[in-house]
Amino acid sequence: MNLILFGPPAAGKGTQAKRLVETRKMVQLSTGDMLRAAIASGSELGKRVAGVMERGDLVTDEIVVALIEERLPEAEAAGGAIFDGFPRTLAQAEALDAMLAGRGAKIDLVIRLKVDDEQLTKRIAGRFAESGRPDDNPDSFKVRLGAYNDQTAPLLPYYAGKGNLVEVDGMGSVETVAAAIDKALG
Ligand code: AMP
Repeated sequence: MNLILFGPPAAGKGTQAKRLVETRKMVQLSTGDMLRAAIASGSELGKRVAGVMERGDLVTDEIVVALIEERLPEAEAAGGAIFDGFPRTLAQAEALDAMLAGRGAKIDLVIRLKVDDEQLTKRIAGRFAESGRPDDNPDSFKVRLGAYNDQTAPLLPYYAGKGNLVEVDGMGSVETVAAAIDKALG
């Protein structure tokens, strides 16, 4: 089972992915987490992406596609991947389909967490205080939301056209959203 958790920043993708890792033994593939780990390690890749991420812009397709490709065998061995924060552009979505097809696999389900912009902005204000993530500041968050609306939201018709897109109300409590995701997963 390969699942995409789709939605804007702060929609709850990471929280819900971590729960599915516990309950379903799938592997969470979060490109954001991988990039933050690269920055923390002080690697060349980390140095290349730090500024772009802090501004709230997207890093190149090439970088994130390579990160995902590296981790696919591990997810496959575990019985499935939860893609969290990837794909974010049409080129990434197409690259993912090609990589999976090459391994005799596919995306089985795309769950879109729907949360309105006002709620997202409220959530992120709270998270900034706790997380200390530099890109959770109000200016960067605005850029991240813009990147979602301009580059990522257009993927919805791509997946709807494949017939595997399910929409879940992401406005409720973590537990309510988790129950809706479980229902979608069957
Ligand atoms: P996230 O933790 O998913 O919100 O990602 C944090 C930041 O990492 C994003 O604002 C981008 O700068 C970068 N990033 C993460 N995933 C991707 C991706 N699939 N494509 C491009 N940039 C990404």
